Amino acid sequence: MNTAPNRVDAASLVNSRISRLEALLEQVTDPEIPVVSIRDLGILRDISLDGDQVTVTITTTYSGCPAMKTIEADIRQRLSAAGYEEVLVKQSLSPAWTTDWISAQGREKLREYGIAPPQKTAGGLCAMISADSSLACPQCGSEHTECISEFGSTACKALYRCLDCAEAFDYFKCL
Ligand SMILES: [Zn+2]
Repeated sequence: MNTAPNRVDAASLVNSRISRLEALLEQVTDPEIPVVSIRDLGILRDISLDGDQVTVTITTTYSGCPAMKTIEADIRQRLSAAGYEEVLVKQSLSPAWTTDWISAQGREKLREYGIAPPQKTAGGLCAMISADSSLACPQCGSEHTECISEFGSTACKALYRCLDCAEAFDYFKCL
């Protein structure tokens, strides 16, 4: 490029391009929970542009979670379909993802989808599965629930059952 655009215009151009990328990545969802975007889950950490190269930084939720490969492929596919040829997906391991990063909107979507969202605790750490935890049933709101299995439909979730409405539901484990 021979012409140097003035700095303010260049910055606002980058911002609008980033906004467009954000909107595209808003459509990338957790393959296991298709109602929640990677942004709502706090998996999407950063988007940056260097010329035409897009760098997307994501943080793995549960280590070894096979969903991350799918998410990475989905990011690449959506961006290339929108005309972005040079896409770098970086995994950031530090700071480690915690369920505290799930947005309020993400928690609401989890509940609507029938998954009990992770409960926040003072220290950010949960007693992961405890028999006496009063986990509310996403179907009827009853706290009269019990843990059936520490592993639900995926390793990231535990399987619970509501003792009032007898509905089984997944609980998104805290980290
Ligand atoms: Zn219930």
